[in-house]
Amino acid sequence: MISDNSLVVTRIDILRRGLLGCCPNCGQRSLLQSWFRLRPSCGTCEMTLAKSSGFYSGTTSIGYVASILFIILPLCFLVTFKIVSVTTAILLGIFGTFLFMLGLYPLMLCWMVMAYFVALPEELPANQTSTHPR
Ligand SMILES: [Zn+2]
Repeated sequence: MISDNSLVVTRIDILRRGLLGCCPNCGQRSLLQSWFRLRPSCGTCEMTLAKSSGFYSGTTSIGYVASILFIILPLCFLVTFKIVSVTTAILLGIFGTFLFMLGLYPLMLCWMVMAYFVALPEELPANQTSTHPR
């Protein structure tokens, strides 16, 4: 186990970059090919993003959890306290979650990359220069 002190890019750096939708390796906004797709590799530092592509299918699970927390639960409270009608809440729920998932999709893709490297920061190319010389 490598301590965070020996890392060029720390877990905090990875979190900060990832939350803003930036590449955990170089910090540039060059991870996305389109709104719904990651590039095979980062457009700036060329770090490979495809190697754990199966891992990124978890994007939809993040979306489900986030939709429940930020859309469905608040709507349940609004209905319970009779602030909105059931019909309004259902319509808001359908369109709200749809727009929410659509709007957050690129960020969720970046968050999956971030989650992977927060767990395994020593796998970042920027962190391999000192510990694994080629
Ligand atoms: Zn990069």
